[in-house]
Amino acid sequence: MHLLVVEDDARLSILLKRLLEEDRHVVDVAHDGRTGFEYASDARGIDVVILDVGLPDMSGFEVAKWLRRDRIDVGILMLTARDSVGDRVAGLDAGADDYLVKPFAFEELSARLRALSRRGPTGPRRVEPRLTVGPVTLDETLRQVTVNGVPVELSPREFSLLECFLRHPGQTLTRDQLLDHAWPFGAAITPNAVDAYVHYLRDKLGQAGAWIRTVRGVGYRMSDA
Ligand code: CA
Repeated sequence: MHLLVVEDDARLSILLKRLLEEDRHVVDVAHDGRTGFEYASDARGIDVVILDVGLPDMSGFEVAKWLRRDRIDVGILMLTARDSVGDRVAGLDAGADDYLVKPFAFEELSARLRALSRRGPTGPRRVEPRLTVGPVTLDETLRQVTVNGVPVELSPREFSLLECFLRHPGQTLTRDQLLDHAWPFGAAITPNAVDAYVHYLRDKLGQAGAWIRTVRGVGYRMSDA
């Protein structure tokens, strides 16, 4: 997933970025509310915003309210400093999907992110923490990819690309969309370079790579059909 961490505590944001990247997510960080709001609104590829409440410029509550006001389609996981009912209610009222009380165990953050990713903005909630197209499966809990049950080692970027395809089965994704989802903001990469990474990914998947189809002049699609 492409995640945005909005957190002014530098140590915590560095730690979260590192741990989330180890879990093979694409992670961007903003250190104040206004920048967080701008990143979340501008970049179309963000799946979930991990949003601290106490922030410079704008509070996390305000950021969540503004994102929902503008109908920005992202999951919002609020980090509250205290386990106070008032804060939790305010967060959920502002449009957060879930909250986590600081300090928290990273495993719990991972579990809540998985739950949020399964909830999805549209469509039914998936029960299984697995994304599957044809013989290719990505286990969101183990963060592992298999083809016909056999584990496949992917680079972080290949993993992100595949996750993007599996999260949008049957949908044609343009190079720009893949770039938004699978790379951090401002990554020095052209849409054409996306082709090279799709090529690497297909190679790693072996025969199953054929499930990623080229849609001429547009981009790529992965589907059962
Ligand atoms: Ca803070």
